[in-house]
Amino acid sequence: MPALLAALLAAALVGPVAPAEMPADLLLVGGRIWTAEENHPWAEAVAVQGGRIVYVGPTAGAAPFRGPKTEVVELEGRLVTPGFNDAHIHLVEGALSLDQVDLIEEQSLAAVQARIRAFAAETPRSAWVLGKGWLYGSFPGGLPTREQLDAVVRDRPAYMECYDYHSGWANSKALALAGITKDTKDPENGAIVRDPKTGEPSGALKESARDLVKSKIPVLDEEARYALLRRALRLLNAQGITSVQDAGSDSAPLTSEVSLFERALRDGALTVRILAAIQMRSRDVDGSIAEARRLRAHHDDALLRLGRVKGYVDGVIEAHTAAMLEPYADDPSLGRGEPNWAPEALTAAVVAADKAGLQVYLHAIGDRGVRMALDAHEAALAANARADRRGRIEHIETIHPDDYPRFKRLGVIASMQPLHANPDQNNFDVWSRNAGPDRASRGFSWANIERAGARLVFGSDWPVVTADVFRGLYCAVTRKTREGTPAGGWHPELAVSLENALRHYTIDGAYASFEEAEKGSIAVGKRADLVVLSEDLFKAPPEAILKTKVLLTVMDGKVVYRVQSAGAIAPKGTSRIG
Ligand SMILES: [Zn+2]
Repeated sequence: MPALLAALLAAALVGPVAPAEMPADLLLVGGRIWTAEENHPWAEAVAVQGGRIVYVGPTAGAAPFRGPKTEVVELEGRLVTPGFNDAHIHLVEGALSLDQVDLIEEQSLAAVQARIRAFAAETPRSAWVLGKGWLYGSFPGGLPTREQLDAVVRDRPAYMECYDYHSGWANSKALALAGITKDTKDPENGAIVRDPKTGEPSGALKESARDLVKSKIPVLDEEARYALLRRALRLLNAQGITSVQDAGSDSAPLTSEVSLFERALRDGALTVRILAAIQMRSRDVDGSIAEARRLRAHHDDALLRLGRVKGYVDGVIEAHTAAMLEPYADDPSLGRGEPNWAPEALTAAVVAADKAGLQVYLHAIGDRGVRMALDAHEAALAANARADRRGRIEHIETIHPDDYPRFKRLGVIASMQPLHANPDQNNFDVWSRNAGPDRASRGFSWANIERAGARLVFGSDWPVVTADVFRGLYCAVTRKTREGTPAGGWHPELAVSLENALRHYTIDGAYASFEEAEKGSIAVGKRADLVVLSEDLFKAPPEAILKTKVLLTVMDGKVVYRVQSAGAIAPKGTSRIG
């Protein structure tokens, strides 16, 4: 603990101190401060000095922290929470997606095409037209065709990723550039979808077949990538996010991502704390472990932490690649989905990474995948003497009831993304159809995982879905789309309370990165990561969550985002907010 902080704490214990002795850099007063502290959940004022919280309590008690240079924010009853932690994000992929057309809000083919046409018109000088976010349900037959894309982009190659990043959609120019014809063979673990009559490529590409086109897309240079990362960090700050746990990227080599993060750190532009995992490759487990340890040795501080490993146990339910205990419901002839690892190999890899002192994340979506991941974590617990490992399982889209209690027993963290449960048409037409009603009744079962005593953390999986925390919060507490459907919510018994949802976005996220003593709640001595919100989520109906705006984001005691509007807080001195 810094000496100054120790002095402040000592002073706070013995009582009020003269103002000159402890002026804060930033003082928020007159608010409704939800601290995420179990014993003191509410306060009115918070003072920040040197990046740390030095006071939490009634406004009257904050007077000694008001100095001539203190920035004082009059909250006027506004809600303040700890800065949000997105526990599962793909930061660089998300940043790169900012340069592409986003289709995820469009349901009909006509609307998808209109959006692409408009984007292409706005970006006439781009060599390619790139996008992401299309939904299977928008296309007759469930997959897009090149003719549908040619109809809006004919002059240039165009390529659009499906929202799940497991299927792609290319126009004729892109297929030609990639040399894909009726004679091209399917690559390993991929399929070129073909016209059943002519055998010509239809324009849809599954799994690794996407790489045939993606490898032809010009790579952005370092400057362009860095500019997009900066934009992404600003965007996250505007959504109240002060920490992310990056689940790694498949498309970019890690070294190039790390160099972007390091550059932001050097430039003082790292306004979101980053913890990043690297992929544990089944073909080179030892190499992955060694690389993670090397990265951790370089960066393991409050702003940039590297050196976690993530293994992909299975795929996704939409593409029938998630590993299930029983066959898929829509077409049992498709089997139950094969995991990416043999169980023994997965267990050996997790035991080895755990033995090397690494935290292990396992992507597991089907109930069999989740069970394999729990088995592997259990083997690590049995094999290695280690007090605090905090193994994680990512996604957990469905689960066998017998496995709920194992999370608590094994100390495994459930890392889930509320908006993946968004009960839109795509969920019902694809996810629920494939899973079938029994497994769907345990779909994204946050409340059951809570009831079993597990530690649950929330994230977005951006750019798979938006990183907007309020969209995630709304889905977490209502199990409805933002249009309010279905009435009453989809399996509303699996929704969580607002307070619990906020905990999963704050203090629980800090626990998942071993930093709960440093951040994640508003308490004296902790790092000052805070957000001021336009709505009081605790008093307003759930629909108010969707119109909530972040007014101010503070990371490490510094204002990193301030809403631009009349009456917004001024840069210095006493100000009002809103
Ligand atoms: Zn992910």
